[in-house]
Amino acid sequence: MAAEFQDERHLTIVGAGLAGALLATLMAQRGWSVDVYEKRGDPRVQGYAGGRSINLALAERGRHALREAGADDEVMAQAVMMRGRMVHFADGRVDLQRYGRDDSEVIWSVHRGELNLILLGIAERAGARLHFQRGLESVDFDARRATFKDEGDGSLHEVGFRSLVGADGAGSALRGAMRGAVELGERTQSLGHSYKELEIPPAPDGSFRMEPHALHIWPRGRYMCIALPNDEQTFTVTLFLPNEGDPSFQTVRDGAQARALFERDFADALPLIPHLERDFEQNPAGLLATLYLDRWHLDERAVLLGDAAHAMVPFHGQGMNCAFEDCVALARHLDAHQDRAEAFAAFQAERLPNARAIQQMALENYLEMRDRVDDDDYLMQRALERA
Ligand code: FAD
Repeated sequence: MAAEFQDERHLTIVGAGLAGALLATLMAQRGWSVDVYEKRGDPRVQGYAGGRSINLALAERGRHALREAGADDEVMAQAVMMRGRMVHFADGRVDLQRYGRDDSEVIWSVHRGELNLILLGIAERAGARLHFQRGLESVDFDARRATFKDEGDGSLHEVGFRSLVGADGAGSALRGAMRGAVELGERTQSLGHSYKELEIPPAPDGSFRMEPHALHIWPRGRYMCIALPNDEQTFTVTLFLPNEGDPSFQTVRDGAQARALFERDFADALPLIPHLERDFEQNPAGLLATLYLDRWHLDERAVLLGDAAHAMVPFHGQGMNCAFEDCVALARHLDAHQDRAEAFAAFQAERLPNARAIQQMALENYLEMRDRVDDDDYLMQRALERA
């Protein structure tokens, strides 16, 4: 092992997305020496390169982790409160279904790019070293050397490590490398549905065009739209459609077909999306899948967390929240165990069953959101259950 990485308290994190940046902060705050390698360029220099959902629902689970890292105040300064679901029925009626009894039980809409910027700033201030444009290419687990590619000039850079943490998302390169060294029991279950994002800009007077303090839903049986508010008075609309059948992303392929779908099924949303055709044609369709692993670590040499370990469909709004909880748990286990293999095993034992449960709830919530939130009998039953 390279001498510099025999350090008892050194960690190499792959990915400076939401989980990577938060874990780097938590570990650096505990006095650990942390290096983080991120495939993309520094978003603070060249702007945030999107590609995934523009905004996210932040819940109490995630806020608890942010508080531990001292990041909650900065994040909440740009968050928009969502008191409940605003259901847009096919006949034009709207109805707010509150998440709780009052504003102490709400969720928050946060901008992914702004959140990532805040977390990177906090990680760096805590002492973590961030290396951008360094995508993990390969790992020699025996020699404990990882090779990163400079995404600018293509050059390769080898670094020694004691342990690698895979916070590199659903397509994790570290998971790919671990596959060659240990049986992970990996299965991916495609949902058969995809999504596209559209934008509702501010009204001409600069205000929100709909009620800002709600998560808007247009449930339509096999498919649906949702919209979350952003702090610059816009909404990000996400259209979820099956990959096959009618309507689907096979039958709704261009802007004109998207307009026809909205005229028929989302009539009250249509006038709010002035660039529907452009958004639909320019924005890529994102695939949705659940990733199951039976094993998240390779003895003391590597461990996965967040989407790299348990990507899930987004219908419970818990992927990021769960990834943040992973960070707190991993930091706690690394503190509590001298032996890292034991720490990683204890982390997996604690978090894997939780992740499985949330993955299942996320799949079930898709049926509820698209089929049931406009079903009067079902709502009555839910109301009676709560009473
Ligand atoms: P990511 O955020 O994907 O970060 C991975 C990082 O690793 C990225 O910065 C990436 O550039 C980097 N990387 C990738 N490959 C490499 C490599 N080879 N080398 C180095 N770096 C690499 N969750 C919620 O809690 N609430 C929501 O409302 C919500 N809505 C969602 C809506 C949609 C449409 C989708 C798709 C997801 C949603 N999620 C939501 C889930 C959430 O986005 C993820 O769970 C969360 O981003 C996981 O964080 P992560 O850090 O594990 O992965």
